[in-house]
Amino acid sequence: RSAPAERSVMCRFRPLNDAERSRGDQSLPKFNGDDTVVLGKPYVFDRVLAPNSEQLQVYQTCARHIVKDVLGGYNGTIFAYGQTSSGKTHTMEGRLHDSRLMGIIPRIAGDIFEHIYSMDENLEFHIKVSYFEIYLDKIRDLLDVSKTNLAVHEDKNRVPFVKVTEKPIATCSRSHSIFLISIKQENVETETKLSGKLYLVDLAGSEKVSKTGAEGALLDEAKNINKSLAALGNVIAALSEGTKSHVPYRDSKMTRILQDSLGGNCRTTIVICCSPSASNEAETKSTLMFGQRFP
Ligand code: ADP
Ligand code: MG
Repeated sequence: RSAPAERSVMCRFRPLNDAERSRGDQSLPKFNGDDTVVLGKPYVFDRVLAPNSEQLQVYQTCARHIVKDVLGGYNGTIFAYGQTSSGKTHTMEGRLHDSRLMGIIPRIAGDIFEHIYSMDENLEFHIKVSYFEIYLDKIRDLLDVSKTNLAVHEDKNRVPFVKVTEKPIATCSRSHSIFLISIKQENVETETKLSGKLYLVDLAGSEKVSKTGAEGALLDEAKNINKSLAALGNVIAALSEGTKSHVPYRDSKMTRILQDSLGGNCRTTIVICCSPSASNEAETKSTLMFGQRFP
């Protein structure tokens, strides 16, 4: 399927947490309409989700339209970007068995099955999920932890993929965790086929190396994270400009894997996750700036 790419950048602020509240941190951002947050200066996004936003509303704003398009045969990617503790995992996963607090991934699973049950019986659905993480540029299968440092393969159409298996685990905030849902549909009567896939990415914390005060292995880790986030930013920025013939997909493993779900016929949402606390102001501004790179 080909159609113009649809890219949106959403910004979500979490509420102050108990620790921030008890030490008297101020909440700095002011919210203007549904697309602007003011932190020193105004930052405009496709939508800004204020701290009181509910998980359902976040799903409806950031994900529902992409799920619909993936079921219609497009590829898509949803990213959560932000410093550690800004609400990325809350946004992507949330509390799994709580209907109010569950995040984007479990809601997507629910929506997909609802869609399947509502469809005509001639349609056969084949759904596969995989879950893996990228840590220090090594890919680890989260459904089979014995598999480490997996290779990126290319299929006969030169589309990159990773061979991984299937079941759920917790991840660490220093790796990028990637949940992939592939959906193949076949109308058994007409034999028409449709396939789409959706990558759901909980990125490693974007905090700056200097702030983490890291040394040795931890410093290498922090540098590697910053480098892979920069590579992702460069790819999306090149795609947003639309005129650039060279998109630097090959600069990181993650952008290589996501290659066929970021450009061309794809739907992309970046959810910029932020803390409202005065103690995180500098980091929050740098997170907001990352989101402003993609017009
Ligand atoms: P990250 O994945 O970015 O490191 P988390 O999603 O783990 O951050 O969030 C840090 C903490 O804040 C968690 O305890 C989480 O439940 C809580 N939290 C994050 N966002 C919200 C929110 N919008 N509403 C309520 N609690 C939140
Ligand atoms: Mg997390």
